[in-house]
Amino acid sequence: MNFHIMTLFPDMINNALSESITGRAIKNDLIKIDTVNIRDFAQNKYGHVDDYTYGGGAGMLMQAEPVYLAYKSIIDKLPYGDKTENKKPRVLYMTPQGTPFTQAMAKEYSKEEDLIILCGHYEGIDERVLEMIVTDNVSIGDFVLTGGELPAMMIVDAVSRLVPGVLGKEESALYESFYDGLLEYPQYTRPEVFMGKAVPDVLLSGHHKNIEKWRYEQSIQRTKERRPDLYKLYIKNNDEKSKK
Ligand code: SAM
Repeated sequence: MNFHIMTLFPDMINNALSESITGRAIKNDLIKIDTVNIRDFAQNKYGHVDDYTYGGGAGMLMQAEPVYLAYKSIIDKLPYGDKTENKKPRVLYMTPQGTPFTQAMAKEYSKEEDLIILCGHYEGIDERVLEMIVTDNVSIGDFVLTGGELPAMMIVDAVSRLVPGVLGKEESALYESFYDGLLEYPQYTRPEVFMGKAVPDVLLSGHHKNIEKWRYEQSIQRTKERRPDLYKLYIKNNDEKSKK
């Protein structure tokens, strides 16, 4: 899977994603990170890509043209390019005004061959180019960061681990939090007793059915306590399923 990331800070992204599991996935050719520096498409000799906003107000805005040219450079190098209207890659704009990112969205994006991610900076980006190229506005939460690079990296990380082969057998994405609408159950590793606190007996019993039941109950309990919104949805979906 190819991630094309339009940014003013390509090193930030390349350095972080070349570590750990995403780094291994890059080495194994399972994912490719193609960072495109928007500044390379500046239309002046100073490399400026931002300007004052019309109508006044504090801060600078990224200009439409460098962003558009950076996008075009990506499209032009794709094998299917701009030639066919019905095969255009998805373009995700990282913005606090977008749809809050979820595991379900990560799953959907992991099916794409190419994903373009656009990182804003300063006060954001000229609306006109966003209207022209963006297919999905995505937020990573109700707070404002200085740039879209951290959100882009989060998305690449969450999506990559769902690409077949990226996680080893020991790191399966199955049965994790959100997989079936519930949070994951508590987990323990050695030693059996830590500072007087013992691992629950059932996990040492070797009785798989009981372990499964305990984990399910713990997932339910945890979701109810920590994420009542998810719990309500889970109960509602299960009620509907049982009525069918
Ligand atoms: N003026 C914009 C607004 O009020 O919506 C915020 C601009 S923010 C300072 C600069 C850039 O950071 C944005 O263009 C976006 O790419 C990124 N960003 C900031 N917060 C984000 C969030 N919660 N989710 C995704 N991207 C975010």
